[in-house]
Amino acid sequence: MGSKWKLNELATCCRNSLVSTTSDKLTNIPFIVITGTVRDPVALIIAGVHGDEFEGPAAIQDLMLEIEPTEVQGSIIFVPVANPSAFASATRRHPLDNGDVNRSFPGSLNGGPTQQLAHDIFHEFALNASSILSLHGWSKEASVVPYAEYSEDNSPAARASQEVARRLGFHYLHPYRWPSGVLGDAVLAHGIPIVEVEVGGMGTITAQGQALCRDVILRFLAHFGIIEFDAASTPEPVLVSHYDLLSSSAGLFRSLVEVGDHVEAGHTIGTVHGLNGSLLETVRASEAGTVAILRRLASVQPNDLLLQIFMNRQIA
Ligand SMILES: [Zn+2]
Repeated sequence: MGSKWKLNELATCCRNSLVSTTSDKLTNIPFIVITGTVRDPVALIIAGVHGDEFEGPAAIQDLMLEIEPTEVQGSIIFVPVANPSAFASATRRHPLDNGDVNRSFPGSLNGGPTQQLAHDIFHEFALNASSILSLHGWSKEASVVPYAEYSEDNSPAARASQEVARRLGFHYLHPYRWPSGVLGDAVLAHGIPIVEVEVGGMGTITAQGQALCRDVILRFLAHFGIIEFDAASTPEPVLVSHYDLLSSSAGLFRSLVEVGDHVEAGHTIGTVHGLNGSLLETVRASEAGTVAILRRLASVQPNDLLLQIFMNRQIA
């Protein structure tokens, strides 16, 4: 099943402001398709799959109105907020059934609201593209060092994903074995290269985050020859793997580190205290690495993610 809108019915050299109504008819997803002098290749630049991540949506909103169709060789589908219901409630998950859309692709029309939305995003946007840049910002509860994720599989589309990921200007690249349900995993099965990037956090939009997202989007489009863009020099990236540190108790989390800090194995990273002030837990690094994700919301429950630590790995 294809999308309800048809790329080949759009005039070339045009900024097309469109709306996709979800299958349940409850939600409208505004999007813009810039058709250039030719229609192919087609890049999808998508954000707002999680409703509490805002750097990507803001950068997309700017670029989708700025880029001149006459300077585009191909087409760009810009979706600033793919999950308007979650955006309205400022939650990662879909407010109607608490589902995570980015664990639900390719979705199903027979499922609940999250499954249906995943299906709609997949068919309306993803399957129309020959490459995809998916922008994330970790969550409103944590900060993240900017990094790009791509599949560590060896398929041609995964290798093409790795190639573009290395051109986006990130210091940290995270090759990943995506769990099923992630957009990346679902589109690679269709041979479409995809990179998911993480920038920002804390539900904020900052000048620094905007400059970075903008640069990443322009680099991505230029890699596929869709626009011309003279990027600053590209640093040699560091490839990483990661481990998570979870809270084992409920209480007040006090962090002793900052995002980007280096920690040694055994280093005390923070503490969790009971409401009476008692020390419930001392959080320590199990291996040396860099603080990549740091929970800033200090009220924690058992199994909440407190930190993610990046460890350098060899370039394959
Ligand atoms: Zn996200």
